[in-house]
Amino acid sequence: KEEVDMISGALELKRKTVSDVMTPLTDCFMLDEDAVLDFKTVTDIMHKGFTRIPVYSKSRENITALLFVKDLAFVDPDDCTPLKTVVKFYKHPINFVFDDTTLDYMLTEFKRGESHLAIVNRVNNEGEGDPFYEVLGLVTLEDVIEELIKAEIVDE
Ligand code: ADP
Repeated sequence: KEEVDMISGALELKRKTVSDVMTPLTDCFMLDEDAVLDFKTVTDIMHKGFTRIPVYSKSRENITALLFVKDLAFVDPDDCTPLKTVVKFYKHPINFVFDDTTLDYMLTEFKRGESHLAIVNRVNNEGEGDPFYEVLGLVTLEDVIEELIKAEIVDE
């Protein structure tokens, strides 16, 4: 049964796209770049339990950086360090992908190992004005693997 699921999952990776498996923007845990890493913010980050947190400027659609929870290892909440100081120090690259990227391609990208999280963009050409990029959410290697094995991975 598991093998059959996996084979059909593998075949479907060619058909399904990132937008089928991503976490939509409204459900993403993100931080405002003007946040201060005080006790409250750090506690909040720890409680959410995510490894990587997108950082935005002004509006949630405008993602400017990524914070990894491990970046906080040397941060003392008593110092009230601005989040900007930390993200400028680590400067993790942000990967963007289009919403219609197929999952087999996405898996190949993730396997290259540069990053296991990507921000999902779409070209919005509805309406009168010029087309623009719109952020729809985020996708991680786990979202693709779940589609491959056809089962939920329960987080630690
Ligand atoms: P983590 O290591 O943080 O648990 P995973 O890569 O294992 O992240 O992904 C687990 C699930 O959590 C996936 O569905 C992914 O889309 C989602 N996810 C990852 N980071 C975030 C975040 N910052 N906010 C909301 N959902 C996230």
